[in-house]
Amino acid sequence: MTIRLGVMGGTFNPPHCGHLEAARHVRAALGLDRVLFVPNNIPPHKRMPAHSATTAQRCEMVGLMVRDEPWAALSTIEVDRGGASYTVETLRALAGEGQALALIIGTDMLMTLEQWREPAEICRLATLATVARSEDDRAALKRQAARLQGLYGADVRLVDCPALPVSSTQLREQGGFDCLTPPAVAAYIEEHHLYR
Ligand code: ATP
Ligand code: MG
Repeated sequence: MTIRLGVMGGTFNPPHCGHLEAARHVRAALGLDRVLFVPNNIPPHKRMPAHSATTAQRCEMVGLMVRDEPWAALSTIEVDRGGASYTVETLRALAGEGQALALIIGTDMLMTLEQWREPAEICRLATLATVARSEDDRAALKRQAARLQGLYGADVRLVDCPALPVSSTQLREQGGFDCLTPPAVAAYIEEHHLYR
């Protein structure tokens, strides 16, 4: 039987409950077998801010986030590949293993998908499983889903779950790790004096 795999890429600087809950809801809604969290090596479309965690630390934190979630795993495929991390290359590699793919993305990423490398190919390789990052996002998501369907024949699923409006930027700038990251991640951030 074909394995149905969710793929959630990001910088995870740091990983937070918004990532984990989005993936958990998508997995349930689409009946996925597993979800891979894939930290970028070098994100092509954004600059890493000063006082970021290192790539190794971002991977370790994702590992801690998924530690007690049997359906979730860390994938270092982009870090191992090195260089700039393009989602299309990651999807190609995973699809080559014969798995059916769902790319899990939040609102901001669905809205900018046309600027990614080979968006048509991304849409051919994976279902786009989208989660609203705030309750106000839903109308824009619907319009963009229709647009991507028209442009690329994209299979977009808008997963209906409560929005958890948290971001890594907000956490880096304002703290709140104890409430908004899994406990093992919060302990790691404290122990390694990150984001001070
Ligand atoms: P930053 O503020 O540093 O950009 P972030 O919180 O946006 O961090 P990323 O690592 O950039 O996290 O995002 C990885 C993926 O997770 C993206 O597809 C993004 O849209 C999605 N995502 C991030 N936060 C949430 C959230 N709270 N709810 C749903 N999806 C989210
Ligand atoms: Mg982001």
